[in-house]
Amino acid sequence: MDIREIFSQGRPVISFEFFLPKAPENLPEFIDNLEEFKALHPDFITLTYGAGGSEQGRTIEAAGLIKSKTGLETVCHLTGITHTQEEIEERLKRLKDIGIGKIVALRGDIPKGNPSLPGRFPHASDLIEMIREMGGFQIAAAGYPETHPEAKSPESDIFYLSEKVRAGADWIITQIFFDNKDYFDFAKRAKAAGISRPIIPGIMPVTNFAQLKRFSSLCGTKIPEIMAQELKKIENEPEAVVQYGIQWASRQARGLLEGGAPGIHFFTLNRSHSTAEVLRQIRQKTV
Ligand SMILES: Cc1cc2nc3c(=O)[nH]c(=O)nc-3n(C[C@H](O)[C@H](O)[C@H](O)COP(=O)(O)OP(=O)(O)OC[C@H]3O[C@@H](n4cnc5c(N)ncnc54)[C@H](O)[C@@H]3O)c2cc1C
Repeated sequence: MDIREIFSQGRPVISFEFFLPKAPENLPEFIDNLEEFKALHPDFITLTYGAGGSEQGRTIEAAGLIKSKTGLETVCHLTGITHTQEEIEERLKRLKDIGIGKIVALRGDIPKGNPSLPGRFPHASDLIEMIREMGGFQIAAAGYPETHPEAKSPESDIFYLSEKVRAGADWIITQIFFDNKDYFDFAKRAKAAGISRPIIPGIMPVTNFAQLKRFSSLCGTKIPEIMAQELKKIENEPEAVVQYGIQWASRQARGLLEGGAPGIHFFTLNRSHSTAEVLRQIRQKTV
């Protein structure tokens, strides 16, 4: 379905993000488990593109398999930083061959110690431009409510986001954040910079405090003080942490939708329980 149609239906657009299981032999089980997510009726799902190594080669085939086996509208992530023009062309052709017409186009993280990088696609906007030139794809770009950690300033980060839209991005999916104020400020700054594409907030129901701290230090996402304090008290009670994550994410998602966000993108961590609970809670409130 055309992405504009999805966004014009006057209800929140729901998408789920997954990553490929590390071991290729676990792919069939992963695909079987997607049935639990399918029952939650997402508008589409997205599959991340491994930051390096063999996973990259498997992502496109896996996306094709997921789409044909589950019937879910599948969006493939693609990163440009490690690829040549020919490699990207080849991947775009393969995506077309398997009927995947939507891409989350990213720069990817710069692998350390590779002096030949960045090459042909130093920024996401370069990749978006090339995908747009080839034609036949709808494209999402990444946005950063708390500003990308390498950005010179919040203003320059918004400027480069507008460059991604100028290059051809149809919608924006944000990095995870835990304070809705960051999203609303970001959406306001994007609008002031002339960005009119839908900005879907990315949320992640927390399931593990140690993992959250790792993620936060890698990506620069702030953990609100109150969340850190409360999680610290229960960090050795796994079920209590999961419940806490569900309550926080439900409150966050409700606030976002009530404040006018066009949908929610769930970073599912490949687990259905928390995502299902959060969705149940927000759907109860919105029907
Ligand atoms: C929703 C989402 C999904 C993701 N999925 C994946 C994935 O599947 N695989 C993966 O490896 N990583 C993924 N990432 C992580 C992403 O690759 C990193 O955050 C990466 O560091 C930046 O990617 P980008 O596309 O935002 O890059 P860019 O838009 O290129 O921005 C990177 C930095 O460069 C600056 N910049 C942008 N354009 C220019 C320019 N023309 N000149 C100077 N500076 C510029 C920006 O301000 C920013 O600081 C994802 C991130 C998000 C938010």
